[in-house]
Amino acid sequence: MILILTPNIDPESAGYQQLMAHLTRLPHIRLRVHREQGAERTLTEIYLIGNTSSISTEDMKSLPGVERVVRVSEEYRVVGRHRDDHRATHFDYGGLRFGQDTLHVFAGLCAVDTKEHVDLMMRALRDAKQVCTRMGAYKPRTSPYSFQGHGQECLPYVFELAGKYGIKVIAMEVTHESHLDEIHEVLHAAGYPTGVMLQIGTRNTQNFELLKFVGRQQDYPVLLKRGFGITLSESLHAAEYLASEGNRKIIFGLRGVKTNMGDPHRNLLDFAHVPVVRRLTRLPVCIDPSHAIGSRTTGPEGLLDIMHATAQGVIAGANMVLVDFHPEPNRALVDGPQALLLEELPHFLEDIQIAREAYEKRVALATRYLD
Ligand code: PEP
Ligand code: MN
Repeated sequence: MILILTPNIDPESAGYQQLMAHLTRLPHIRLRVHREQGAERTLTEIYLIGNTSSISTEDMKSLPGVERVVRVSEEYRVVGRHRDDHRATHFDYGGLRFGQDTLHVFAGLCAVDTKEHVDLMMRALRDAKQVCTRMGAYKPRTSPYSFQGHGQECLPYVFELAGKYGIKVIAMEVTHESHLDEIHEVLHAAGYPTGVMLQIGTRNTQNFELLKFVGRQQDYPVLLKRGFGITLSESLHAAEYLASEGNRKIIFGLRGVKTNMGDPHRNLLDFAHVPVVRRLTRLPVCIDPSHAIGSRTTGPEGLLDIMHATAQGVIAGANMVLVDFHPEPNRALVDGPQALLLEELPHFLEDIQIAREAYEKRVALATRYLD
């Protein structure tokens, strides 16, 4: 059960103290208080953990400071959508809103290789009026002998160039707790020229200790990729790990599942799950067509399979597109074969716009038929 308190409630106020005194006396119920500092107001939610079936929502609603009460179903308590649940389906970061109604494109390098490539990539993004990108500094690789990413070493120039080209948010995978400190240290030293969205990759979806660690901080939002060999529900529980530790700035990423039934694509596309995740949770949904498709194959009409996959996700309501580009894919150290070329960026973005407009028209049509 979740008690949503009146905005800006003062924890020192008599009402709040009275409320807490009452709640702490509830037998076998643990409390978890979550405070979300927004630009204009601070929201406080109190989670009642334990068997709450005998607690009446009416009683809870009558307590001082309680604005609303949500009785949650067992699954996805924090990230889920529950009956009479009007909690937000968005968050703000880096001056941008990420929600179930917005769409952002994160085109960029799978892995940072040279400063020159980072510069060329970000310049192309700026020219295309883009303010987000993806850049991997820490790469989880199948072989220990493959390039593992430049790590902290590349962060100073990545952040500096991001600031120079007006990039507000970089999606960057972390595979170890120490990477957060490294990112934080360099961003701080540089004076925060940009923002970072921490990415948890498909190989770490069930790395529970990493999830808990990343969930315990609220400085950076998190893009959690679904696990490539587990069910959707198992991956959504992983998102719940992040949220239950306190971080609510979560985007859930679909990137295909591993099976040779998807051949000749790298993975089997799972973008039909976009509306499923939006229905089951309040999380914005990201699609990663690059890792799902894995190559630059083209349909007979001349559209890349990656563009078709992107359109499929966007027309179904995706809120974020994470996609690999590279100035010289032949020289990329990771995932060159699936990288789009910088010259293809304007076409890619226009194609997304078509799919987004089609999605908006489909929603308007559905609303008309429902009325
Ligand atoms: C990536 O986005 O670079 C990546 C490694 O993705 P995934 O974890 O989905 O394989
Ligand atoms: Mn990759």
